Amino acid sequence: MPEQSRTVTFKNVSKRYAGGVAAVDGVSVEVAGGSFVALVGASGSGKSTLLKTVNRLIEPSEGEVLVGGVAVGAEPVHLLRRRIGYVFQNVGLFPHMTVGENVAIGLRLAGEKDNAARIAELLDLVELPAEMAARFPDALSGGQRQRVGVARALACAPGIMLMDEPFGALDPVTRDALGKAIRALHDRLGLTTIMVTHDMAEALLLADRVLVMAGGKIVADATPRDLIAGKGGAAADALVAVPREQAHRLKELEG
Ligand code: ADP
Ligand code: MG
Repeated sequence: MPEQSRTVTFKNVSKRYAGGVAAVDGVSVEVAGGSFVALVGASGSGKSTLLKTVNRLIEPSEGEVLVGGVAVGAEPVHLLRRRIGYVFQNVGLFPHMTVGENVAIGLRLAGEKDNAARIAELLDLVELPAEMAARFPDALSGGQRQRVGVARALACAPGIMLMDEPFGALDPVTRDALGKAIRALHDRLGLTTIMVTHDMAEALLLADRVLVMAGGKIVADATPRDLIAGKGGAAADALVAVPREQAHRLKELEG
C-alpha cells in the first residue's frame, strides 16, 4: 500500500459529549504514512476519543478525519475498518472461543478464508507458537493475550494500527518485550501506528513522534530527540522530567 494512502489527517476535530465540555477541542494534525506516533497525556485529556474518530467508533462534533486524503465517512464503515487495525487494553478476546477462533474472526471480517495455515502465520507474526491456536484465552498470560489481540487486528492486513494503552495491564518486563515486538512489526509491515499511552518513557522509546494532549488539545508535538533536548515546550517538559530523573538516578547507582 502506498504511504499516502496510510496518512491520517485530523482537520479541526472536536468532540463534545452530551452536556459535557469538549473532550477533543479543535485538533488539527497530520500523521504521515509509515510513521509511529505516540499520543500521550493525563487520564481524561481526550486521547481515546481522538483515536476513535479514525475508525469511526466516535463521530466528531466538528471537523473531519481523513485517511489517505479521503474522509473516513466516505465509505461503509466495515470497509474502512478492514484497513484499520484496533487494539485496546484487555483486548476483548471471546473467552468461550479458542485463540485460533478469535484470530479467525479477524479473517472472516476481512472476507478471507480462515484456514489453520493463515492463523499460524498470524500467530507467528506476534511470536506465538501455532499450537497456541487450540488454547482458550484464560490459559494464556496477559502478554500472550495482548499478542493474540494484535494478531487478530493484523488479520485484515491493515495499513494503519490504532492502539489504545495496549500494554496497560501488563508487568514491566512483558510490557517492554511487547513494545519492542510491536515496533518491529510496525517497521516490518510498513504500518502507520498511532499508540495511546500515559507513559512518556514508553512513548520516547517507541515512537518517531510524540503528541501530548491536555484538555482536548495537542499541546506539544515533537520527536523524542527534541523532547529529550527540552524543545517540546512546558507541557512536554513536565512529562519528560519523570523518566529523565529516573534515568539519572539509575546512572548514579551504577556510579
Ligand atoms: P483519555 O483517553 O485521555 O483518558 P477520553 O478521551 O477517554 O480521555 O476522555 C476525554 C474526556 O471525555 C473525559 O473528560 C471523559 O470523562 C469524557 N468522556 C469520554 N467518553 C465519554 C462518554 N461516552 N460520554 C461522556 N463523556 C465522555
Ligand atoms: Mg483513554
